[in-house]
Amino acid sequence: TPLSTSGDPRLRGRAVKRVAFDEQAIATRVRELGDQITASYPDGELLVLGLLKGSFVFLADLVREIKRPLHVDFLVASSYGAGTVSSGNVQLVYDPKTELAGKHILLVEDIVDSGRTLQVLMDLLRERKPASLEICALLHKHIAEHLSHPVKFVGFDAPHEFLVGYGLDHAEDFRHVPYVASLE
Ligand code: 5GP
Ligand code: MG
Ligand code: MG
Repeated sequence: TPLSTSGDPRLRGRAVKRVAFDEQAIATRVRELGDQITASYPDGELLVLGLLKGSFVFLADLVREIKRPLHVDFLVASSYGAGTVSSGNVQLVYDPKTELAGKHILLVEDIVDSGRTLQVLMDLLRERKPASLEICALLHKHIAEHLSHPVKFVGFDAPHEFLVGYGLDHAEDFRHVPYVASLE
């Protein structure tokens, strides 16, 4: 039985306005994405690169639905300035030690909003000469005016609200909430 979100002890007293995607919907969609990704990479080395921290829950579920060999590494990016709007001034705080040249790189992101962060990362990663470079995002707000490369694998079209849960935070809270919701 689903937990009543009004009394969810994970929420620090906050109330859910709307559950955008519940655990069941996420599990079903992640399985479909896994199948799609499996079919898209018939051969070659696949490196799944998770963008921390937001992607960690999604990535953990997703890789277990990809039925082919793969390696996992992470990126930590930091963007400075411009308050809550990402500025495009993105730097790599953790740079994967794994060799990227000649590999199929699948960059895993929690949510694409303006696309600024991803655009900068894609440009940085492309310089390392991967065999291919694609993005898998759990959520896509379809604003993404700063993203030249389409997101190949999208979990859900996201409402234009601030969402938390399943890895997504507000001031580091709510990452462990197993569904995606907007809060009151
Ligand atoms: P972008 O560079 O696409 O504008 O920003 C993307 C990043 O902003 C996401 O990876 C995420 O960290 C954060 N972000 C964008 N929209 C949301 C949202 O609705 N909820 C949360 N928690 N973070 C968001
Ligand atoms: Mg993110
Ligand atoms: Mg955040």
